[in-house]
Amino acid sequence: YKPISTEESSRYPAVLTRAQSELMNYNGLGISVLEMSHRTPDFTHIITSAESLLRELLNIPENYRVLFMQGGGTGQFGAVPLNLMGLKEDRCADYIVTGTWSKKAAKEAEKYGKVNVIHPEADQYTGIPDSSSWPLNPSASYVYYCCNETVHGIEFNFIPDTNGVILVTDMSSNFLSRPVDVSKFGLIFAGAQKNVGSAGVTIVIVREDLLGKAYKECPTILNYAVQAKNNSLENTPPTYSIYIVKLVLEWLKNNGGTDTMNQLNNQKSSMIYDVINSSNGFYLCPVDEACRSRMNIPFRIGNLEGDTVLEQQFLEGASKLGMISLKGHRSVGGIRVSLYNAVTVEETQALAAYMKEFLNKHQK
Ligand code: PLP
Repeated sequence: YKPISTEESSRYPAVLTRAQSELMNYNGLGISVLEMSHRTPDFTHIITSAESLLRELLNIPENYRVLFMQGGGTGQFGAVPLNLMGLKEDRCADYIVTGTWSKKAAKEAEKYGKVNVIHPEADQYTGIPDSSSWPLNPSASYVYYCCNETVHGIEFNFIPDTNGVILVTDMSSNFLSRPVDVSKFGLIFAGAQKNVGSAGVTIVIVREDLLGKAYKECPTILNYAVQAKNNSLENTPPTYSIYIVKLVLEWLKNNGGTDTMNQLNNQKSSMIYDVINSSNGFYLCPVDEACRSRMNIPFRIGNLEGDTVLEQQFLEGASKLGMISLKGHRSVGGIRVSLYNAVTVEETQALAAYMKEFLNKHQK
């Protein structure tokens, strides 16, 4: 099998081009990955390559298992408590709620144990409360947080100190956007569809000694110990999505890995925040500067509630230039710029230029 070469990786869009060229005939076999049994040596090669690339890119320590699961991030909102809530007798966990996704995770976890929601009051999420004042419970089985709140544009740029309590994080929307010290976590999960592939597969990185403590009611396919024992093949895995993950990881490796992604993501997000910050209140991002996301930048136009006429004009003008998916999440409205790894510096420059032009035209 020929991995994507460095030269191939520099062409755009490398992963889709490769997937297209192999769609009907993978590795000269005369069949597609879509037709392949997950028990064949060829698929074993795909899944083991994906795992070893991920281990290399994130420097994952030996005592961690990498699982390819189904059910998305939402599936993990249930899987995490079902597997880990029982780590300690009290069956409770701390949830640091900083936006939509951690709030949903906390709500799901309440079905399986006691949940201590930290920072529950906010209706409008605009920041991360000072970590020195978090009322953490030392007998919690784990502390949970969402590393990047995709809807509200809030990102942790630090790893919380939990005084030895197991740390769990949802990295669905900033996975592989920068290096991460995996050893600081008990578990990291990430749905693939933002930075690492297509929908259908969810990556779980879990410390080995946490396996085997799941509630007996935990569905077999959500049981980390079962999936680890069977190398993620307890049942039919999302084979094509895993194949796409492998291609993305090859691309990532050829493009400098997480260090380079980190640098590019800083550069890209600065371009957009610079326009917002220098717009004299025409563009408004409500998020505290210290925790503004590099992946998702929500903002309003005109005023903090948003001038809906201007926002509509902004979206239409952008769409005419081929810039789509800029509408904010339906729960918050406004505009949201998502700058995942696959978005290039040139594309970001084009958006920043359009934002400046729109500002000059419409600012009173
Ligand atoms: N967590 C985060 C941070 C997300 O952004 C999303 C979806 O956008 C989810 C969880 C839910 O993922 P899924 O739709 O795969 O269940």
